[in-house]
Amino acid sequence: MRCPYCNSADTRVIDSRLAGAGDQVRRRRECTHCEERFTTYEVAELSLPWVVKRDGSRVAFNEDRLRSGMMRALEKRPVPSDQVEGAVSRIKRALIATGDREVPTREIGEQVMAELRALDQVAYVRFASVYRSFQDVNAFREEIERLESDASTNNKQ
Ligand SMILES: [Zn+2]
Repeated sequence: MRCPYCNSADTRVIDSRLAGAGDQVRRRRECTHCEERFTTYEVAELSLPWVVKRDGSRVAFNEDRLRSGMMRALEKRPVPSDQVEGAVSRIKRALIATGDREVPTREIGEQVMAELRALDQVAYVRFASVYRSFQDVNAFREEIERLESDASTNNKQ
């Protein structure tokens, strides 16, 4: 680790301790050349896969985009934001857990739909209608009917 003050390559660790919620290591370092001290933090890298878009291009996974897409669908719906955060982190965990280096947009979209479906059916239909761009009115109606029959089955239980 180079010294940020004099750029010397010769620095040493003088203290090392857990930081954050114990998921970071904080290190005090000292430059053996100019004797300045500085701090570094070490965290585990949990890498998310690249997202492969429909046109085949690859972009970095963007959590904010995932969240704002869900929030758009959930606009004015009675869903607390911590539940949205829960859904976002479940999707991220699932993506990390695959260990895949690339994941198609479609797969993320399916996960978002599954989460929204559990959170709020109106939001789910909003998202699905844009996302799947239902090919015709029938496909859209079938989806609504499926939701309605699910709902009535649940109510009877
Ligand atoms: Zn230095």
